[in-house]
Amino acid sequence: MSETIELVLPALNIPDNVTQTAAGALKVPGARVPEKRVSLDVALAQDLIAHARVAAESAHAPHSHFHVGAAVVMADDPSGTIFSAANIENSSYGVTVCGERNALYAAASKGFRRIRYLAVSTVDSLGSPLSERSPCGVCRQAIREFTDQDVSVDEALILIDTKDPDILCEVMDIPRLLPHGFTFAG
Ligand SMILES: [Zn+2]
Repeated sequence: MSETIELVLPALNIPDNVTQTAAGALKVPGARVPEKRVSLDVALAQDLIAHARVAAESAHAPHSHFHVGAAVVMADDPSGTIFSAANIENSSYGVTVCGERNALYAAASKGFRRIRYLAVSTVDSLGSPLSERSPCGVCRQAIREFTDQDVSVDEALILIDTKDPDILCEVMDIPRLLPHGFTFAG
């Protein structure tokens, strides 16, 4: 049985902080992200978390032993296909690609451009702080490319697996994970 619930992601309202010095002002930019209300398909979220966990079993992680699986469904894919992948490490460390990007690029390679939900399961650290379970900075920027960069209409959600049996997943989005992500406006 499918269940759709409305979810509120709270606004971020961090003001700028400007300090005057003899050499000029120092500005610490704040962040402003409006509140977001989204409909979440609970069964689909559960399915994506399950796919991410299974994908992690195929991780090639002989160096870090940190197995990660990711699963994504795209908003512009009428078939609702779930693309899943794992992290693939390399002896030349810089060649390593995270599970999130492997899954996302599999979907993008089929022509899809807008994320609906992207789930990630760091199966070896599910009980760890969010910083050890949420996408790395590179993946946040990669994910951002495939969301609507107008944050007032962006509906993409990042679903983060946890160890807590009472929590299906933690729900975030790119504006809150990467409020100052780079955009090439040229
Ligand atoms: Zn990453």
